[in-house]
Amino acid sequence: MTMSSMKRRQFLAGIATGAAALAASPLTHVQAAGSPRGRQSASGLAEPAFRPLPLGTVTPEGWLQRQLRLQADGLSGHLDEFWPDVGQSQWFGGKAEGWERAPYWLDGVVPLAWVLNDKALQAKVKRYVDHIVAHQRPDGWYAPYPLDASAKPYDLWAILLANKVLVQYHEATGDAAVLGAVMRNLKATLDALGRTPLFNWGKFRWFEGLIPVYYASEKTGEAWLLDLARKLHEQGFNYMSFYETEDITTPTPRRGLWRYDKHVVNTGMALKAYALSWRLTCRDAERAFPARMLEILDRYHGQATGMFTGDECLSGKNPVQGTELCAVVEAMYSLEHLISVTGDASFGDRLERIAFNALPATFAPDMWSHQYDQQVNQVQCTINPDHMWSTNGPESNLYGLEPNYGCCTANMHQGWPKFAAHLWMRAGEGIAAVAYAPSSAKFETHGTPVRVTLDTDYPFRETLKITVTTEKTARFPLVLRVPEWAEGATVRVAEGSEKRLKPGSFHEVEREWKGAVEVNLHFPMKVKTSRRYNDAVAVERGPLVYSLKLGETWTRVNADKPHRELPHGDFEVRPTMPWDYGLILDEAKPETSVTFEERPVGEVPFSPDGAGVIAQAKGRKIPGWKLAHGWAAEVPPGVQDSKEPVEDLTLMPYGCTNIRVTEFPRTTE
Ligand SMILES: [Zn+2]
Repeated sequence: MTMSSMKRRQFLAGIATGAAALAASPLTHVQAAGSPRGRQSASGLAEPAFRPLPLGTVTPEGWLQRQLRLQADGLSGHLDEFWPDVGQSQWFGGKAEGWERAPYWLDGVVPLAWVLNDKALQAKVKRYVDHIVAHQRPDGWYAPYPLDASAKPYDLWAILLANKVLVQYHEATGDAAVLGAVMRNLKATLDALGRTPLFNWGKFRWFEGLIPVYYASEKTGEAWLLDLARKLHEQGFNYMSFYETEDITTPTPRRGLWRYDKHVVNTGMALKAYALSWRLTCRDAERAFPARMLEILDRYHGQATGMFTGDECLSGKNPVQGTELCAVVEAMYSLEHLISVTGDASFGDRLERIAFNALPATFAPDMWSHQYDQQVNQVQCTINPDHMWSTNGPESNLYGLEPNYGCCTANMHQGWPKFAAHLWMRAGEGIAAVAYAPSSAKFETHGTPVRVTLDTDYPFRETLKITVTTEKTARFPLVLRVPEWAEGATVRVAEGSEKRLKPGSFHEVEREWKGAVEVNLHFPMKVKTSRRYNDAVAVERGPLVYSLKLGETWTRVNADKPHRELPHGDFEVRPTMPWDYGLILDEAKPETSVTFEERPVGEVPFSPDGAGVIAQAKGRKIPGWKLAHGWAAEVPPGVQDSKEPVEDLTLMPYGCTNIRVTEFPRTTE
């Protein structure tokens, strides 16, 4: 489907811009994108609003390409070389862990290898996948599962995960043996559910099983697959009922009780549960539930980053509580499904907010180390037995190889690659930009190959240039998400006039495309403030949240622990300057209090030195604002009286920080 560069050059030379008829109309509803709500596809499932493109057809460009390269050159591309739980996994014929860790790693490294088109990484992945498929038993179970797995109760979570990995691999490669293995295993799973209903992790993550089941159903049309989908739905935990209870509104107390239903990773995963099951049941209440679920999480556990706390169960709005990295990447993946199924633009806003803030902040800039828990107000990361987590341990906010527990070490890899793979989706005969980052995508419509390229430094800039390139004339819609915050957003198609766009919607440009046509978007980013925990204030602009810039020192720790050889060591991080500032802000006119300055986007885009934009504000030190428990700084409530001198403060994007204050006490001029 790719045009040769020669051909592209030829027809680029012959374009008459502005010649094609232009019809642009605002989309109030996804129906207009060509996928009527509730329409059944051939498999018997309701059609999603937008269909993700096959893995490998969306390619990261610009800063996103650099970010993914950093990831592949960091822990993600090398974890199997020294970490036994992946390299020596029972999934790969070794003697180490044989549960979720190797499938978790593959779940991120498969899309990483294909979005980057990294042949060496693809070859590595192929060896591991081939091993899993070659060692599947005749009864359909994968090798790490005990010989009596078909007769005895066995928690099915890792099986649901492994199949999710294998269908991604099948989508990228078309390897028929892999789909065959998935089909045999799903059959064994259906039999197993008939004997023993889901329990423990499998019960709380039942909807993850729908992903491989739907994929297999759309590929083969076999009717028993939807019986399996119905069984998973029936036997799985009912989050819709749980979110009606008082219990969900209550933060887990310090040293509180660990529970599956309030577990933060389960919560991030479950955001998509009922959008997925709606495709099976067509029950409106299920389709509507994810938005309701996010509303409840925001109200009782929400953070400025668009995430919710959980260290490791939901833990309220206090910005010193943590959020586990697994929950961040799972929430992103859920949002990618939510946009696809519902076509609701707000899920795209949320996806970008998490991707550009919570995701990068919790990694060291070189992506060799990560945290288990990140805090929105995180002024130091040290080993501290007197911490305030609900059920996590003293090392949870270190940057390291496996701080607290190794699940994130295995599961963190899916964040960036799946985000890149889901930036563009099919909208009927056309294409939709559901989230924005520099990228390109190719698809075919009415037999004509089309390439769309997004050239931008967004989210560090307000302008986005999309080029639609077709060899032959083709009529199809280009569907553009307009973020809710983008008041005054405009689009200009080719040499046409500038049109105003409606924030919080999808805008459809339906026209005949020929040659290379430029579509220029402008999303004005106005500074906004919001009131948070204890009436503290947070600053945001566009999709980025801003935090106090702090100098920092990194100290290596745990050097004697296994597998901590550099570059994958453990580190404490401490501030080298005071952090205890309140902000002086005119909340009615924040643009008079905070000014922004664009900088070149760095080679390492999410690092203190690479920040593509910084901000200046004024504040005063707040007397008495101190570390509690030797580690965290609870925001004092209300407006703080301070006689300290007014100082100029530098803020920078949350995602570029390693330590930070984000929810500030308010103080006066
Ligand atoms: Zn984790």
